[in-house]
Amino acid sequence: MLRAGADRFNRMRMIEFLDLDAIHECRCLVVGAGALGNEVVKDLVLSGFRYITLVDHDVISRSNLSRCLFFREKDVGSVKKARAIASRARSIDPDARVRPNISRIQFVDMSDHDIILGCVDNIDARIHINSHARFLSIPYIDGATYGLRGKVQTVLSDGPCLQCAMNRTHVKQMERHFSCSGDDVFVTPIPSDITTTAVIAGMMVREAMKIVSGRSDLCSRDMCYYDGEKGTTELLDVPVDPTCPNHGGD
Ligand SMILES: [Zn+2]
Repeated sequence: MLRAGADRFNRMRMIEFLDLDAIHECRCLVVGAGALGNEVVKDLVLSGFRYITLVDHDVISRSNLSRCLFFREKDVGSVKKARAIASRARSIDPDARVRPNISRIQFVDMSDHDIILGCVDNIDARIHINSHARFLSIPYIDGATYGLRGKVQTVLSDGPCLQCAMNRTHVKQMERHFSCSGDDVFVTPIPSDITTTAVIAGMMVREAMKIVSGRSDLCSRDMCYYDGEKGTTELLDVPVDPTCPNHGGD
């Protein structure tokens, strides 16, 4: 919808390969409404994505405030993260529709989406999203940060998946997170800052823009590793692991 004055996306239209109509229509699933989820939703909305489902069951805590654009001091302890982002995203673009889903991803039907952006802080959720995205042939972009370092991996139907890049250490870490009942036993806080979070979120949304514009050939098939301390970015080769359970039909 055009409002008074110039089209808000007229500078983006100068980037020839971007398909703004496809971006406007895309149904995004964002998993995780923490620091990375805040930045990813902000970048998605500013980039013209309008239909976003945001999954998170958590409540805002004070330690979120230094890294989360959409959270306010008055929210601490009472407002769900996904609801705060959903209610404030339209102040960036009134055409944005962010629908909060107050749940764990394990209870969410992912099939009704065109692309998935993972902003989670644990391996269990990553493995769940990864296997379902592979099964449903939905492109999945996973982001992670740890202090000033971070990584982005794009999982497409014809390439390696997240589990191809995992090893026994990851599996052991996953097992330690759960009790016999399946409930979380502990969550260890990890170091985090907004500058690294913003870089990783930007890389994730840029990959989404390529895929939705029909240019997944421009996406990195490897793992992109960012080191904010050194100021470097490098691509780590991730081959398809023939023992990975997610490639049975390949
Ligand atoms: Zn795999």
